[in-house]
Parts: sequence; C-alpha cells; structure tokens
Amino acid sequence: MRIDEWLYMVGSRQFGLSSRYDCHIYALRGERGILLVDTGSGMGHDAVIAKLRSEFGDLSRGTILITHKHPDHSCGAARLHRELGWSIATSSHTAPLLISGDEDDCGLAEAQRMKSYPPEMRLNPVDVARVIEDGDVVELEGFALRAIRVRGHSADSFAYLFEHAGKRCLICADIVFYGGVIGLINTADSNMNGYKEDLPKLAGLGIDLLLPGHGLFTVSNGQIHIDAALKQIANGFIPRAIGQGDLIF
Ligand SMILES: [Zn+2]
Repeated sequence: MRIDEWLYMVGSRQFGLSSRYDCHIYALRGERGILLVDTGSGMGHDAVIAKLRSEFGDLSRGTILITHKHPDHSCGAARLHRELGWSIATSSHTAPLLISGDEDDCGLAEAQRMKSYPPEMRLNPVDVARVIEDGDVVELEGFALRAIRVRGHSADSFAYLFEHAGKRCLICADIVFYGGVIGLINTADSNMNGYKEDLPKLAGLGIDLLLPGHGLFTVSNGQIHIDAALKQIANGFIPRAIGQGDLIF
C-alpha cells in the first residue's frame, strides 16, 4: 500500500495486508536500499515479501529496523532476515533478546498463555548487525535516523526521527498513536513513570509524518497527536491508552 512515492505499508493486521498478528510494517525507499520498519509476527511473512516484491521489484539491498521487542513487531525478524538477506538493526535494549530468542522477555510466552498468540508463533534467534544507542544518529539505507528511547510502552521502545522529502518524520512504534493515545499496557515494564520521564523528548519536534505501529498514520501535523498525550500527562492525567484493548485493536 503506497503512502507516498518513497513510503509503503507492506504488512498490517488492521489494514488487512498480512497476518492478523502483525503490527504495521513500513517500507521506506532510501537512496541506497529499502528500510523495513518492524517485521510483524512471522505468521504472514510470505504476504510481506510478496508486497515488497510488487512495490519495489529489486529487493537486493535492505535493512530491517526493529523498534521494540514485542512479538507482533519482532517475531518475523528471523524469517525476513533469512529470506531477504537483509541485516537487522535495533537498540542495545532489544538486541540481546533478539539474539537469544527470549520468548519470555519479549512477552510471547505470556501472550500465548493468554491465547493472544498461537503456539506456532516463535521468536527465533537472529543476528543483530547494528546496535543503536539512545541519541545515536544512524545512517540506514540513506536515511539519517535519530534514535530516541521512550520508556512507558516497554522499557526498550525507541522512536526514530528523520527528515525526508521536505517532511519531518517520526517512527513512533507503540509509544504514541493518532489522537494522543499512548501505548500503556498491562505488562511488567509498561508504566506511566516511563511516559512521564521520556515522552517529553518528543515535544517540539515539529513532526509532520507520524508512523505508529498500529492504528492511523498521518502525513501532516503529526506533532498534534504527540502534544495531545503530553498535555494530559503534564496536567496529571493518564491519556487514553491502548491497554483497554478496544481503542485500536
Ligand atoms: Zn508493543
């Protein structure tokens, strides 16, 4: 699904593009190759590869960026890495559990006990070629991405800021969504303290294009959605959150 001439969505549960367990999977056409943002669950990787092939044709060069550990974002990493030959980039907080295939730490084991994910879904270990730290500016396939760690949804969640085609763009994963919804969920490392401390890092960035991991994306005025959440938090409230499960899922 083409969003802009350089930007595509190639997997998503909500837009019906791939497995029902997949987050949004974005593919960005850079000067050097394709930057794939998140991998989905690995349950719909054939559909993701087919869409990549139909949108881009040449898949000889690419990188896979993983925003955080959760299974709907990370479990497809090993398969896509193997089938596409693209290397994996992720933060130093996410890399160890991708390398080890830690199904407890990524939340897969608990979610399978709750029957949210099927038993055949796995976090297969995969090599991480590029380990990113908070504040780094990383060059991936021609995009210069500033890494911003924002805790609250998970301890390892990172947003990535970049400029492209005259727009300020933010890959915001499950940190914040359209309408000022935040990614607070009922897991051990999701909490408001993380949001209170780290979400202000996303204030005043002048974001046009906002690319969340679920729900609506927008190509203009993305900052207002971040600011809506920041305003609630600054006033001592908890913004609307995906933890109720019925807002965006
Ligand atoms: Zn998540």
